[in-house]
Amino acid sequence: MTATAADSAGTTGSAGTTGSSASGSTGPIVRLDNVRKEYGDTAALDGVTLHIRQGEAVAVMGPSGCGKSTLLNLVAGLDRPSSGQVLVHGEDLGALTETGLALFRRHRIGMIFQFFNLIDDLPALDNVALAAQLAGVPAGQARRRALELLGELGIAGRKNTYPAQLSGGERQRVAVARALMNRPALLLADEPTGALDSRSGEQVMDLLIDLNQLGQTLLMVTHDPRLATRCASRLVEVADGRIVAERAVERTA
Ligand code: ADP
Ligand code: MG
Repeated sequence: MTATAADSAGTTGSAGTTGSSASGSTGPIVRLDNVRKEYGDTAALDGVTLHIRQGEAVAVMGPSGCGKSTLLNLVAGLDRPSSGQVLVHGEDLGALTETGLALFRRHRIGMIFQFFNLIDDLPALDNVALAAQLAGVPAGQARRRALELLGELGIAGRKNTYPAQLSGGERQRVAVARALMNRPALLLADEPTGALDSRSGEQVMDLLIDLNQLGQTLLMVTHDPRLATRCASRLVEVADGRIVAERAVERTA
């Protein structure tokens, strides 16, 4: 398992490095500066400043409704701040057009979610390959890499299986493979173990640790302290849309 995740993360890590030098930036890979996000009268984020360096594994923690997913969605380019700046790889997401944001998401970001967000009508292999095909990779090449990733994550035998027939842990591994398809500079995870039993959750945690140790920059949000302390190199605590505490962690894994 370690060696397999190593392979995929190794490629991912080097892609991240290339991306960084291409943008000419040696600064943080993620930069939120005084970010505010309002939904009607609610301030989901209320002046958040957070910088993440290449290779870090940052866990954002806090109670339900405190703004964790909002923060992640802004970094993913799924949403725009009401004020303040979000820069990823030196790119000001607020200045991108919708098309620019879509391209950014496709090429720079890998994202995993609590409920996997797989496409029910596609078997595992196609769920993974689709990510690359959307980014312009020819189908055959995409399928070869997808199969390779499924192999590295220990689920090649499930390549023709539809999501409904996969266990939760298998679904999340398919989702991780999909997220890694385009060798993203940044892997984002929103409550990645939230829907898993504890054993599958631990497997996903181990996978995230392996990926990070091989260079993959990680930003995850969770309200599970175990996920945070096992996987993260830094904890960021959010309450009511603000960062209220921050500390480096010695990983317990
Ligand atoms: P968390 O992920 O920490 O549970 P969220 O970021 O999802 O919190 O939500 C933060 C706050 O913003 C909550 O009060 C939530 O109801 C509100 N909110 C989030 N997304 C939307 C939205 N699309 N429309 C309206 N309100 C939203
Ligand atoms: Mg959330």
